[in-house]
Amino acid sequence: MNMFKDKVVLITGASQGIGKATALKFAEQKASLAINDIGGQEEQLKELKNEIEKLGGRANYYLADVANYEEVEKMVQSIKNDLGKLDVLVNNAGICRDKTLAKMTKEDWQKVIDIDLTGVFNCTKAALALIVNNRGKIINVSSLVGIRGNFGQTNYAAAKAGIIGFTKSLAKEVGRFGVTVNAIAPGFIETNLTQKMPEEIKGMVKKFTPLGRFGRPEEVAFLITFLASEKADFITGSVVNIDGGLSL
Ligand code: NAP
Repeated sequence: MNMFKDKVVLITGASQGIGKATALKFAEQKASLAINDIGGQEEQLKELKNEIEKLGGRANYYLADVANYEEVEKMVQSIKNDLGKLDVLVNNAGICRDKTLAKMTKEDWQKVIDIDLTGVFNCTKAALALIVNNRGKIINVSSLVGIRGNFGQTNYAAAKAGIIGFTKSLAKEVGRFGVTVNAIAPGFIETNLTQKMPEEIKGMVKKFTPLGRFGRPEEVAFLITFLASEKADFITGSVVNIDGGLSL
């Protein structure tokens, strides 16, 4: 299928996990990809670019820290120069620094807010004019934790809840241009982010998840490509859960 033929898609934090799976899913549908990650991930981005090209797709990679507005602006300008336009922005880059608030340092707080929340502002702000030009789509990767909170994640929960407020407000601002803005709220997905969790906690998560397992990055990628497609033209300001029923 060629659902995204002639569409240019920027995915942040794309070198692994949900971002990588999403890039590959867009590539299968013939999108031109701008894949982003931070400096340390250049080799993984190169490999992903090769993988996409083997699928017959097109990809350029851009190293930029989403928390740094100047780097993000430069990246968006380069995408405009290299690929001519931008239709879809997937704000996926994110980290966690888990600690109870009693143990959390100001640095743990600030780092997560800077990447997970300000990163979404930076990328969206820099890309908005291009997206508006093409009646494009923005998909923000929030989290179930942003809705329900989680022990040891005040910083992450605050950032992910902030993304939800940002998504709904921007959806109201840009609806008149035909631009949609949605958020997704994954539960627990098998990626490096969750691999580090203690086995005991993983077991508990599975126990409380009606479907009895973690999600796969490809399952999240399907949802993101759906929200980026014409099929989702009337969906905006939504937060779509993808959590195996954990939120019930
Ligand atoms: P992941 O495998 O760690 O991928 C995230 C990518 O973002 C990594 O390559 C990371 O690089 C990159 N990144 C970190 N800081 C960045 C920055 N400043 N600028 C650009 N890229 C940066 O994690 P994932 O599980 O796929 O997570 C993707 C998104 O889904 C995140 O927003 C996460 O919060 C969200 N999410 C994940 C789950 C889950 O269960 N996995 C659940 C809910 C929501 P480094 O590895 O170098 O940090």
